[in-house]
Amino acid sequence: MKLRVVAAVHAARLATFVSRRLLGRGGTALPGLVAERVAPGALAGLGGQLERTVLVTGTNGKTTTARILAAILAADGKAVVANREGSNLTRGMVSALVAEAGWRGRIAAAETTIGVFEADEASLPAAAAALQPAAIVFTNLFRDQLDRYGEVDTVAGFWRRAIAMVPDDCVLILNADDPSVAELATVRDLPVRWFGIDDLRSGGERGAFDARWCGACGTDFSYDHRFFGHIGHWRCRGCGRERPTPGTSALRVSDGEDGLSVEVQGLGIVETGLRGQYNAWNTLAAIAAGEVLGASAAALRKGPATIGPVFGRQESFAIGSKTLRLYLVKNPAGANQVVQLLGRTDEDDGFAFFLNDRFADGQDVSWTWDVDFELLAGRGGRVWAGGDRGADAALRLHYAGLGVEPVLPPQPAEALRTLLEAMDEGLTLHAIVTYTALLELRRELARQGLAKSTLD
Ligand SMILES: [Zn+2]
Repeated sequence: MKLRVVAAVHAARLATFVSRRLLGRGGTALPGLVAERVAPGALAGLGGQLERTVLVTGTNGKTTTARILAAILAADGKAVVANREGSNLTRGMVSALVAEAGWRGRIAAAETTIGVFEADEASLPAAAAALQPAAIVFTNLFRDQLDRYGEVDTVAGFWRRAIAMVPDDCVLILNADDPSVAELATVRDLPVRWFGIDDLRSGGERGAFDARWCGACGTDFSYDHRFFGHIGHWRCRGCGRERPTPGTSALRVSDGEDGLSVEVQGLGIVETGLRGQYNAWNTLAAIAAGEVLGASAAALRKGPATIGPVFGRQESFAIGSKTLRLYLVKNPAGANQVVQLLGRTDEDDGFAFFLNDRFADGQDVSWTWDVDFELLAGRGGRVWAGGDRGADAALRLHYAGLGVEPVLPPQPAEALRTLLEAMDEGLTLHAIVTYTALLELRRELARQGLAKSTLD
């Protein structure tokens, strides 16, 4: 162990102590930030002790996929170290490792522990170089909010750089249904494990479509079947490239009230408490990674079954006979998936859209026009709009043909009170919320004793 890494661990543990005891915060990225300042090689020094590491990246689904994979490995009897949800820069990974390290910088039982780290798109090259992963999972590549990393090509560039830095036996776990992800197989001659959905009962031509073209010949992809966005069974008429046949394939996907049931080829039925077709890809990605790491079939089935909704992404609060469900949305593709999911809920349930435009939400709200709220027109339930940009949200919903109630007050406490009073007994209110709106609503629910806050 390099002395500098040991010093970094000491500094980080001190930072953890200060953060917890003096500032009353736990589990932040601060220890990792401090450790990286003291020793830029901290991630390699700590992470290099682990038996193996898997990185998970993509526009949507990386938190969920990492969580399912960790559950599969735990079901297989493995020790796992993982970064906290959303702490997906390298400092978040270092924080997670520091928490496991002793004063001499050694991680207990490291040689039998697997690292499962969710990596932000732009952090992937640094994480890959430091951790030399056994596998990298790529979930999908969507145009994110306009003011985040910019173009899809910028993100694809980060990923190509990461792939150039991994060991020769690193397995790329790729979404066969996303042609932009599939193209990563051509970057370098590495082993690939494909996952994808072969159940063609769902999907259609609707949805924001961010067209992609073939990186080899420049022709627009055409689709035999499109699930949503650019995700589907694609082919290039120019050079003949087409969607690879996935080794980890869903033959049938059923989205029920209690969660998803996915029939995986060669594995049988896998169930999870997560809902929405998009979580079928996340489940498949985690299973593919589990297969690569040699997890047993029993663990591959059991892991996903232990997973419920991820904090904030889909979370229910029972309030008397009423239920409030929160769905975090970060970009049009994710929002469209939630809208499709809501299209299958009880007609009389209410619907709300909380739109904030602070830095963490994305300050440009034009993305809301790429969301197909039109799919919700004609439902019986009442519709509300709220948040800092409640008027913009209401305008968007109005143009989608929804009859919107008067805009909710901007203060979360007031908005929540108005909603709960207006909701009918026994019904559910489905609220699509942006990131800071989610934090505010959760804090208010916790303040009213309706939910324990899991925020720092
Ligand atoms: Zn082509």
